[in-house]
Order: sequence, then structure tokens, then C-alpha cells
Amino acid sequence: MSNRAEVIVDLTAIAANVKKLKAASGTELMAVVKADAYGHGLVPVAKTAISAGAKWLGVALVEEAHALRAAGITAPFLAWLVPPGSDYAAAIDAQIDLAVPSLDIFKEIVATGKRARIHIEVDTGMTRGGFLEEWSEFLKSDFSKVEVVGIFSHFARADEVSEKQNQDQLANFNNAIADLAAVGVNPQLKHLSNSAATMTNQSAAFDLVRTGIAMYGLTPDLEHLGTSQSLGLAAAMEVRAKLHLVKKVPANSPVGYGATESTSRDTVLGVVAMGYADGIPRVAKAAGIFFAGKRCPIIGRVSMDQFVVDLGPETTAKSGDYVVIFNNGAAGEFTAEDWGLASNSINYEMTTRIGPRVPRIYPHE
Ligand SMILES: *Cc1c(COP(=O)(O)O)cnc(C)c1O
Repeated sequence: MSNRAEVIVDLTAIAANVKKLKAASGTELMAVVKADAYGHGLVPVAKTAISAGAKWLGVALVEEAHALRAAGITAPFLAWLVPPGSDYAAAIDAQIDLAVPSLDIFKEIVATGKRARIHIEVDTGMTRGGFLEEWSEFLKSDFSKVEVVGIFSHFARADEVSEKQNQDQLANFNNAIADLAAVGVNPQLKHLSNSAATMTNQSAAFDLVRTGIAMYGLTPDLEHLGTSQSLGLAAAMEVRAKLHLVKKVPANSPVGYGATESTSRDTVLGVVAMGYADGIPRVAKAAGIFFAGKRCPIIGRVSMDQFVVDLGPETTAKSGDYVVIFNNGAAGEFTAEDWGLASNSINYEMTTRIGPRVPRIYPHE
């Protein structure tokens, strides 16, 4: 049996990237496995990252952390998007460290009556998560009911190495650490860097770096940091799908909904068994597939479960053959960055949007 479409994840590439990033950071590493490990599969990636040297796992949702615990993973986890009304007691019982970005959340966590392990999140200039206007009031809190394990913040522009905002955020972070120390709280773990900062700014490494995208072998920013390959990263994800049909069509055949494009010559078209319901972006006109050493363009609109490509009149393709949607690009295939560019988006969105109908395959497990 083979799948109509599949995501093939090279866990050995992820292990190599973890080792490389950990060495570059000079400190401990938190493997960020939120959003099903950026689409690569939560549990297999988490286990791989830990055996490659990651000490911590980072997730957005508490559900993701519970799924890791249920899989028997005993590493420390941090969950940083656990909104008011969540079951904090269950999280504390499962030894899930919780980010505290507001007084509301701090109060709810304390109200459980359980001793939570928390990481205080400060807004150092991204103006998204973390304490800002409530900070001085928060500093007056009674911290004796919780264990303050960490303090952290997040960079907005770490991929733009010379941006002054990076220095400002670093300075603000150091000030927040000093504010806490002044009230007698000295968290053992200070963490600020994402992938881009880990690779470009060792002065921000502190006690732990939180790496996501680079661990999957992908560049944090094509424009400012270059391609994944030029950064020495090994892209772990290949997305491939079968040709459902291969058919000869005459010139001037209108293709797909709305007949937005027609064949320019007699040619052979392939119907690829993957569509926007599987994460193929409907806007990605400039992308396509790779078959037998050649890139072939999308023709017509992407449908829900399928799209059509122009294989060219000389193709040797047969129905049932696999075509590559994207991978590391080593043989000239499209990459997640190519699909990102073609969709006015980024590689992060390409890997995370591949839907649950597409099985993840681990050839090296
Ligand atoms: C997603 C996320 C990261 C990882 O970012 P990358 O750019 O993928 O390395 C780190 N920290 C926080 C708080 C995040 O939300």
C-alpha cells in the first residue's frame, strides 16, 4: 500500500540540526514542537530532539504538552499560550511549566492552590505576549506560592541582525531580570532567543535558546539570512503526492474551475492528488511539482483535493507515479521557501499548513 499523498520526515536531519544549533548557542536548547512540530509530527520530533541533546520542549498549547506527557516523554516542557479559563490544575499535575504573561493568569494559577512551575513572560518590545503595563504591579506579587523557574521574552526582528530593536529588546530583558532580582526573585532560566537569534546573536543566548524553524532545517528568513542550504541546515520535510491521472490534451484546452488558464500547445497534464484541503495554497501560482529531473508548473486553479500540472509533451510520467511538491531542493525541486514566496508567505506557513489527511512517514525511525 502506498499513500496518495504523504509527508516524509527525515528525523536524522532534525537530529543533525539540533546538534548544530545547540553547538552554535553555547547553551541549553529548547526544541519548539508547537503546531504538531511545525507539521512534522509532535511525538517523533520531540523524541528525536531530546535524544539529539535538547533538554527542554516548548509548545504553545497545554493540549500539546499533555499529548507529549501521554506519549511518556519526561523532559521538562513549557507551554506559553494557556489562556484564562484553562485547566491550570491539570497542567500543574502533569508537571507542565506555564508561561505567565499577565496578572489575570498569575491569579488563576495561584488560585489552584497547587505549586506551579512558572516562566514569567515580559514584553520587551514585540508588543504581543508578556507583561507590559502591569509589570510594576506584578512585581509586588507574593511569589511564595509558585516556583519561578524562568523569565523569557521573544524577539520580533532577530532575522534582521543590525536592527536596533534587537539591542533595545535585549536591554529591556536585562532590565526586567534586574527588576525581579530587586524583589528577591532570581529565576534559574533566562531565555530570549528564537532560531534567528540563536544563529546570529550569541549575546542573547542566556541559559536556554528556543529553536523552532531552524531545527526543521529551514531558514528563519530567506530575505535577510539566506536559504536553508546556505545556512548549513538540513530540511527534514518532503511532501509528495501521486499523479492520479496523466492525460494527453490538445492546445487551447481550458483547465480547471473558471478556465483561468488554457494549454498553450498539445501537452500532457498530470492531475496531482492533493489540494487546498491538504494545505496546497490556492494562491501559489508560481510554484509547481518536480518529476524526473524537471520542474513542472501548476496550470489552472488548485481545487480542494487535486490540482493540475503541465508535465510537458515528452513526459514519461504514468498515473500512480509520485511527484515532489517540496523538499530540500537538492536536485532542483521546489522548497518550502519557493512555495512560501509563490504564496506571498513563508516556509513556516508551508510546513504547518499540510493538513491531517496527509500521513507523516518516518523512514529512519
Ligand atoms: C514559535 C516560537 C519560538 C520558535 O521560533 P522559531 O523562529 O521557529 O525558532 C520561540 N519562542 C516562542 C515564544 C515561540 O512562540
